[in-house]
Parts: sequence; structure tokens; C-alpha cells
Amino acid sequence: MKNKLNKHLTQVDPAIHRASCTRRRIVILGGGESGAGAAVLAKKQGFDVFVSDLSVIKDQYKTILDQYDIAFEENRHTEELILSADEIIKSPGIPDKTPIIKKLKEKQIPIISEIEFAGRYTNAKTICITGSNGKTTTTVLTYHILKEAGLNVGLAGNVGNSMALQVAEKEYDCYVIELSSFQLDGMYQFKADIAVLLNITPDHLDRYNYEMQDYVDAKLRILQNQTKKETFIYWNDDPVIAREILKRKPAATLFPFAEKKAAGVKAYIENKKINIETSNSKFTMEEELVALTGTHNLYNSMAAGIAAKLLDIKNENIRQSLSNFKGVEHRLEKVARVRGVEYVNDSKATNVNSCWYALQSMKTPTILILGGTDKGNDYREIELLVLEKCKALIFLGIDNSKLHDFFDDKVDTISDAGSMKEAVDHAYAIAQKGETVLLSPCCASFDLFQNYEDRGKQFKECVRKL
Ligand code: ADP
Repeated sequence: MKNKLNKHLTQVDPAIHRASCTRRRIVILGGGESGAGAAVLAKKQGFDVFVSDLSVIKDQYKTILDQYDIAFEENRHTEELILSADEIIKSPGIPDKTPIIKKLKEKQIPIISEIEFAGRYTNAKTICITGSNGKTTTTVLTYHILKEAGLNVGLAGNVGNSMALQVAEKEYDCYVIELSSFQLDGMYQFKADIAVLLNITPDHLDRYNYEMQDYVDAKLRILQNQTKKETFIYWNDDPVIAREILKRKPAATLFPFAEKKAAGVKAYIENKKINIETSNSKFTMEEELVALTGTHNLYNSMAAGIAAKLLDIKNENIRQSLSNFKGVEHRLEKVARVRGVEYVNDSKATNVNSCWYALQSMKTPTILILGGTDKGNDYREIELLVLEKCKALIFLGIDNSKLHDFFDDKVDTISDAGSMKEAVDHAYAIAQKGETVLLSPCCASFDLFQNYEDRGKQFKECVRKL
């Protein structure tokens, strides 16, 4: 395994460079997938490694830590053991306002993310995907295309195994990496060979002092360190991205995709076909042959298609993979057809924007199940689509008052449900042959469920028992 660190030294602040040459102790905050992986890689690289987690560390990760003889603590952060670090690798789930992070910042101990760390120890090509919505779908789809085409490729970031663990244990030629804004926050010298930015709409603002620009800046870190040799794929129709591109003038070679053909756009829809144009070749595919449905998934498919073309994957391989992709669980996932009614699980729609796309893709009258923990939602965004497509709404949450305030005088059939079973039973009673029951909640799930996966699984179970 070659050390990539030297590659970046010309861009590194000299103070950080000096520190990195003598740095020995690495403390990892958070003993989950990314933390355990980072610990293994750090150990293999000869650092003095310590893992600290304020909660319980899952058994599967304890086993890994034990296997590599890595010291750890759980249910606490012991300051002496943490503040003695030369560098911290922080789990993306830990907010900056946490007391231990504040103390580390006061002491000016560098804090990085697992991906930043892993990037130092591999020369593999990196395809990095971020955005407010569609990251997992596009990441898994891109991985699927590359893998099917026979590339030696790893899947990392928010999906699959931690990149650090794979860098420690495998020898991949390239990685497709899903990057959240939280991971990007801890990235400095990392450079994406191919960066993908799908869209930017408000999300996670609680972690960004309720400042949209702070969140936007985090997303745009996907561009950092890129030069003309690297590429940047992005959605041209997104006003926030368009504004940032004008402002930042990225050094990378640009590959915008859009709904319609326009000057400079490299992928677009024309005559119901996806078109992708790269410098020396052209790709086309009938829109209806793409496995994933909905306009948003055409965007995701175009982004993945451009990345694949840039890696010289043959057109026929891209076509085949875009048409046989099975999709990702909880994202517009078709569950079953019961008495002529289609049940669709879009539990991952935890914000209004993703529900908008789900509704937009509905072709039959829809009974929409929505609700949960509101993240400051503005339901005006989906109002027109609800009026156009929804026959009934079922509010699934502990406190549905905001939903009632907004929709009560707009939609005739509305009911409340305090459990998934109740929601599915209501939907079953209302829905008629040829209609669709869609779970696309617009909200986080923590009031009634462990997480969105639990919510989606319960939905599927209830549907299968109908
Ligand atoms: P992420 O990983 O960014 O949360 P996912 O691929 O898990 O994205 O999809 C999350 C939700 O967003 C799903 O409900 C899906 O229907 C919707 N979605 C997927 N792609 C897009 C897109 N390009 N634009 C808007 N919404 C999308």
C-alpha cells in the first residue's frame, strides 16, 4: 500500500505538515463503522490508537477492536486520554458543539474525518458523491455499473463498509464513496478524482447554526484540491449549485447534467432519451429502459452514467446496468400489489424535497402516509402535488398538529395513525384498485421508530400481512 500523503504536501499548511511528521497518537471518537475502520487502519500504520465512545460500542465493532488489540472505552470520554492526541478522527455523527470537541478545538488538536484519513493511504481513484438527496441511490448505482463492468471497486462512506477498513484490508483500484456534509466537514487535503454534487436543499441545519450558507459551504468542500485533471459532475438546474459555481469558478473539468439540453451541459434528456456526451464519445438510452423510476432518478442515473463514461466503461455495460439495477431498500421501493393496490416504501424520504420527487413520480391516485419528527418543514413545497395526486393523507406521528394546520382545509380525507399497523390498515380501507399507497414521510422517524429503516421495515411487514 503506497502512502498518498506526500502527494498533498505542497498544499499543506507548514504548521500542519510539521505536526504530521511527528504525530503519533490518534484518538478516534465514535466506535461505529467509520471509527472501528479508522482504528484498524491507524493501528496498521503504526500509530498509538485509542477509541472513545460516549455510548455503548456494538459487539461487532468491539470484536474488530479486540482482534487488532486496539484500546477503547465506552459510555464515557476520558479527557486525559483524548486531549493527549496528536490528531482526532471524529465520527460524522458527533456535532461540533459537544463539550469534548470544544475542548479539542481550544487546544487546536486537528480533527479530521475517517475518509480524510483513509485517503492518505491509498492511490485508488475516488468517485465521491454528495448532495442533499439521492446520495445513496447514486453511489450504489455507480458502484453497480463499475462492478458489473469488471472493475476492482469498493463501496464506501455512508454505505457499505468503512473506507478506512477497506484501505487497511483490501487493494481496490477505485472507490465509490457517499459523502455526507458531516464527513466533508472533516476533510482538508483529500481530493476527489470525480466529484458528484446532486443537489442542495436545506437539511441538517441544526448542525450548521441554522445558517444555510454554512451547510452549502460544507457540501462544496467536495471540490477542494481539485485541478483541471479532476472532474466535477453536478446538477445544472439547481439554483444553489449554479450560484456557487459562478462564485467559486471551480478548477476541475465540469460535467453538468440537466433536464434539457443547454450550452455546456454534458448529459440531458431529449426525445425521451438520456444523452451523455464526453469529449470523445456519446451515450444514449431510452428513458423507459432505466430501471429506477421518477425524474429524480433520471438525474441520479445521468450522474452515475457520466462517472462511468469518465472511467471508460463501455456504453453497452452502462446501458445494461442502468436497466437491471434493483434500487436501494426504502427508496421508492415497490413492496407488493395487494388487491390491485401498489404499496411503495419511501421511508428514506426524511425531508419535504424527497417526498416532492416521490409524489412527482406517482402515476395513479395516491394515499400518502407522512409525518414523524418535523425538521422545520415547509409543506408549501408539496402542496400542489398533494392536491394533484393525493386522494387521502394519513398522518403517522405522535404530534400531527402542524400537518393538520396545513392540510386540513385542503384535502378531504385525512386520518391520524399512532402506529404503522394503524396507518397501513387505514390505507388499505381507503385504497381502491389501480391506486397507490405511498409511505414518504417528509420527516425523521424518531418519535415512533428507531430510525427510517425500522419505519420502512415495519411498513413492509404490515403490507405483507394484509
Ligand atoms: P440520501 O442518501 O442523499 O439521503 P437516498 O438515495 O437515500 O438519498 O434517497 C433519499 C430520498 O430522496 C428518497 O426518498 C428518494 O426518493 C429521494 N431522492 C433520491 N434521489 C433524489 C434526487 N436526485 N433529488 C431529490 N430527491 C431524491
